[in-house]
Amino acid sequence: PVRASRALGKPPVSVSFEFFPPKTEEMERTLWASIGRLAPLNPRFVSVTYGAGGSTRERTHATVARIVKETTLAPAAHLTCVAATKAEIDEVVRSYADAGVKHIVALRGDPTTGVGTAYEPHPGGYAYAADLVAGIKKLGDFEVSVSAYPEKHPESPGLDADIDVLKGKVEAGASRAISQFFFDNDVYFRYLDKVHARGIDIPIVPGILPVTNFKQAAKFAAATGASVPDWLAARFEGLDDDPETRKLIAAAVAAEQVMDLVDRGVTDIHFYTLNRADLVYAVCHLLGLRAPVEVKAEAASA
Ligand code: FAD
Repeated sequence: PVRASRALGKPPVSVSFEFFPPKTEEMERTLWASIGRLAPLNPRFVSVTYGAGGSTRERTHATVARIVKETTLAPAAHLTCVAATKAEIDEVVRSYADAGVKHIVALRGDPTTGVGTAYEPHPGGYAYAADLVAGIKKLGDFEVSVSAYPEKHPESPGLDADIDVLKGKVEAGASRAISQFFFDNDVYFRYLDKVHARGIDIPIVPGILPVTNFKQAAKFAAATGASVPDWLAARFEGLDDDPETRKLIAAAVAAEQVMDLVDRGVTDIHFYTLNRADLVYAVCHLLGLRAPVEVKAEAASA
């Protein structure tokens, strides 16, 4: 049989892209160049993260508002519970509604004291993501996405307890979960089986982190509880000072992971772009996604 990833003519996959709000003008230029390159691939949505403790509140809003104003993309704004009262968070939600944003990624967030320190809900705030989902749903007809952890959230006592938390978020009104990144697809499919067995039927969209900087990705993984298989470390071995080869290996690794997901029936993929387009664009191309011809012609003459 022809593998799904080799079937020509009908891109079987729908993608979404995650960005973070830029801190400097240079980062802003990088972000918008990336958005410009990825937009023609017609993503289902593009999401913008919310910094720890609401530290990027204004920048997240400004980025999302610019996406609404200057593109035809469907934006999703991330929002967390940390360090804010319900009234403050409700205000942010209302301001999104006013700006025409209809999709929110609702998260608990990490303590302002840093990942790994104990989380204390704000006394007047939403305690956990499920509470935030319910609060957002009360304020309007928003599409709400939430997180899911194929290798469990680092603070959860176990995977079953973590799936209970996910179920609570679905019952509160979430209609999509986006997974924490993972490198071993079997981990994701085993998690899907467990989630389905618990009667959770919203899409659990795999979140893919293309790895160009292996050391940085390993650090992220340690903080989030994602495991790093030995074979992945081996692929980047000896390349710390060889960014050119690393980039080629990174493309091969990401392509292999994504194509395998598609061959095993996945139809939606979320990319953690880290505001960089090249690798994600290449992987999307392999998936059959194409920019419209006019845009390509413009790009060629630029
Ligand atoms: P929740 O789903 O609320 O659960 C996290 C943990 O809290 C659970 O595992 C459990 O241990 C505990 N818990 C939940 N409910 C209860 C309860 N009722 N009683 C007791 N304990 C409970 N962080 C940001 O700061 N900004 C972002 O933009 C951002 N975007 C993200 C996007 C994705 C797709 C993912 C996967 C993560 C993102 N994060 C972001 C990180 C996230 O905020 C952290 O992982 C955080 O530690 C947990 O948030 P959550 O929404 O997953 O929490």
